[in-house]
Amino acid sequence: MKAEIIAVGTEILTGQIVNTNAQFLAEKLAELGIDVYFQTAVGDNTERLLAVLDIARQRSDLVILSGGLGPTDDDLTKQTLARFLRRDLVVDLQAQAKLDDFFAQRPSHSRTPNNARQALILEGSQPLANPRGLAIGSLLTVDKVTYILLPGPPNELKAMFKQEVMPRLRSGSRLYSRVMRFFGVGESHLVTILDDLIKHQTDPTLAPYTKLGEVTLRLSTKASNQDEANQRLTSLEKEILSKKEVAAAFYGYGEENSLAQVVVSLLKEKNKTVTAAESLTAGLLQANLAECSGLSQVFEGGLVTYSRAQKSSLLGIPLEDLKQHGVVSAFTAEKMAEQVRLKMGADIGLSLTGVAGPASLENQPVGRVFIGLAIADYTKVIQLNLGKRNREEIRQLAVLHALDLVRRTLLTS
Ligand code: ATP
Repeated sequence: MKAEIIAVGTEILTGQIVNTNAQFLAEKLAELGIDVYFQTAVGDNTERLLAVLDIARQRSDLVILSGGLGPTDDDLTKQTLARFLRRDLVVDLQAQAKLDDFFAQRPSHSRTPNNARQALILEGSQPLANPRGLAIGSLLTVDKVTYILLPGPPNELKAMFKQEVMPRLRSGSRLYSRVMRFFGVGESHLVTILDDLIKHQTDPTLAPYTKLGEVTLRLSTKASNQDEANQRLTSLEKEILSKKEVAAAFYGYGEENSLAQVVVSLLKEKNKTVTAAESLTAGLLQANLAECSGLSQVFEGGLVTYSRAQKSSLLGIPLEDLKQHGVVSAFTAEKMAEQVRLKMGADIGLSLTGVAGPASLENQPVGRVFIGLAIADYTKVIQLNLGKRNREEIRQLAVLHALDLVRRTLLTS
């Protein structure tokens, strides 16, 4: 294994601090029998760090970065690595809980929105706990190169390396992971339900993280082969799914598998077709479905009915009814779902109508969304109150809820 150490920080380049982190890491890696071929120091500069990462990727198997995980704008290591690897940053719930505790116990410390940055990790990475500080580290392998992000302060870096990294790098056994994805259960609720399992974890470990509307659990174990790992991961998975509410929200495995893909696979499996009439999402649901290959087997088309006039003319809902009930209403969602299902000749008709903001509509608050689902024998409408978020988040969340409604319906039908 060829390793490379990248120390990030302008203070290193200007001679204000000595790069003792590189010295410590090189020594420890040598102890582990891992050869360090290169050491680089780079300033707090996105473009130059991207250039350094590009070189490292080509010549090293293990790239260890130190520094720049803090809350301020010049702490950009994580953000730059995310951009380099084209990964999203997601909130690690344990790190977030630690931040909450920290500030709850120190009322004199003012918490700024920037602090939230310390709980972010790259999607798909294994979180590395920080026994001495608030910034979380992470480990991630992409295209056979492993990247490890460690904080700059030496006391934090050393503790994290010894406790979290060395056991993972020791040879003999390797780390196996399974990723479980959930939708429709609040992140803090899920963590509360699984509190016991999370608090008392040793091996396998259980790391929850979250991104828009979803919670992901990464189960990891050190094992000498896949079968041994599978046994342990499956028994932890069973414990997790023994909680009814958690089991209902579980929709699939893996980082890459989206809710839309799960829904499309289920539709194929059940031999059902779907269509949609979209108002506030203006085609976003259908665009999400269209990211899945083989969609034509289960989807022939749908409608975008943004205005009241088009809800009436394309879907045949009387204008007077729309005026009387309002376009953002359970009534309209119900009629839209039923009508689009009939017009498109699909098994399942979906509808989305609501207020994406920033202004309220028909006295309905921003974030109020009605989703309708019509099948042959009944129509169901759910109401969401997504709160004051930006338009993009409200529209994307509405789509995810609609997809989840189809998933849950297909599983019970
Ligand atoms: P913080 O949350 O404190 O900002 P960080 O992970 O963002 O942590 P930096 O801001 O890069 O890390 O560095 C914080 C401090 O850690 C520096 O001021 C310096 O004292 C020390 N430090 C950073 N990098 C190194 C290094 N390579 N060698 C020794 N000390 C370092």
